[in-house]
Amino acid sequence: MSKLLFELTKDGKKGHYIPDCQVPARKAEELIPEKYLRKKKARIPQLNEPEVMRHFVELSTKNHHVDKGFYPLGSCTMKYNPKINENLGRLSGISDLHPLQTEELSQSGLQIMYELADYLSKISGMAGVSLQPAAGAHGELTGLKLIRAYHESKGAPRKNVLIPDSAHGTNPASVTITGYKSVQVSSNERGLVDLDDLDQKLNEDTAAIMITNPNTLGLFETDLRQIVSKAHEAGALVYMDGANLNALMGIIRPGDIGFDVLHFNLHKTFSTPHGGGGPGAGPIGVSSKLVDFLPVPVIRKASSKFYLDYEQPQSIGKISTFFGNFGVMVRAYVYIRMLGEKGLRRVSENAIINANYLKSKLEKYYLLPYKSPAMHEFVLSGEKQKAKGVKTLDIAKRLLDFGFHAPTIYFPLIVKEAMMIEPTETESKQALDQFIAAMVQIAEEIEENPEIVTKAPSTTVVSRLDDVKAVKEPNIKYNFDAV
Ligand SMILES: *Cc1c(COP(=O)(O)O)cnc(C)c1O
Repeated sequence: MSKLLFELTKDGKKGHYIPDCQVPARKAEELIPEKYLRKKKARIPQLNEPEVMRHFVELSTKNHHVDKGFYPLGSCTMKYNPKINENLGRLSGISDLHPLQTEELSQSGLQIMYELADYLSKISGMAGVSLQPAAGAHGELTGLKLIRAYHESKGAPRKNVLIPDSAHGTNPASVTITGYKSVQVSSNERGLVDLDDLDQKLNEDTAAIMITNPNTLGLFETDLRQIVSKAHEAGALVYMDGANLNALMGIIRPGDIGFDVLHFNLHKTFSTPHGGGGPGAGPIGVSSKLVDFLPVPVIRKASSKFYLDYEQPQSIGKISTFFGNFGVMVRAYVYIRMLGEKGLRRVSENAIINANYLKSKLEKYYLLPYKSPAMHEFVLSGEKQKAKGVKTLDIAKRLLDFGFHAPTIYFPLIVKEAMMIEPTETESKQALDQFIAAMVQIAEEIEENPEIVTKAPSTTVVSRLDDVKAVKEPNIKYNFDAV
């Protein structure tokens, strides 16, 4: 332990040492009310290092993760997290930076954030980028706050945000907490935004339209330019949910189509881990109309020095502590630098090829409700199998027996018995073929011996769980006696 951080006090207890003041350690009894003090010693397991190591390695194999197997969870882009991201993110010059260090002493961190924002701006064609939001949903909230600030600056806050019925649930949730009302727009028979319905719902109360592109069916919205110009003519702005950007890099730029706000999910497209729900990062890009409203501080550069600019009178303010999830930004930065412009385009091309390969093999066995070419993911329906008494949930559970994570199921809501499959570009043809073989075998089992599927999984640490009971009567106590 560093001498700088800890000094021993006279009675041999540790005290915190901060350069110009020393706080001596106080006894637990002085700090904690009597009733909360432990009456007998805690039973802490005594183990040696190999035992601890084996324990954690074993735990890591009990759950499914992308380092262990294929993870085709649609919309989540569970691509491989390159280990070089971790190695560089952990360099002490980066991981030991403290957010309260002076600008002068934080130049490396500021440079990484400045350049990452610049790369994201080039990839998306958006005029300005803020890295602060901590997740896609947080990016949505931030983007909608910018939209509100924009309309308020024009003297009319407006009331509604239009969202297609295929959208992710975070879209209407973000709209509601921003104080807007969400208005649903139907999809047409091709699975795309129904322009007639859009026309009927778009009016002077519309603050924005939120579009996911490619949409959650994995289809490219072909009428984007029309949608954008209709919105702008009505004085509304257009938000692009960029969770599916993995299909677009180097191919199209949302900014060139005319979008006003876009969020990026660094933990999807840019290969940073989705660990236990976080930390993630959901930077936003904005058009020139919204740049002045971006959160502070804005990181700027003046003659090779980076600094924090708080002088933004129209800013919506801060939306994260300090700068957001810096460690995640570093990993995304490494990813972008490793791949470069051509590499990023290849990522998207291969993501699309992999999805279409799987789709072409699986549509013979499962219903494919929307036939147009897929982008980086596609949606099957288990309705044929449901007719034989096997639900999509059963198929998802059976896949676990083959060592695969299940696809996203029962989403998007507009497809019955939906299975949303996203292989990502990081899988080999061999991995895809193994998944195809498993899906084909499951389809055959449903014909011949559906019980194998309805009783699955049988090879995992725990078998079929009672999800409802787990939620209603959670048992999360640690069982010491089992140690
Ligand atoms: C993942 C996702 C979101 C939300 O992003 P988080 O980072 O999970 O908050 C929003 N929309 C779509 C389409 C998504 O796939």
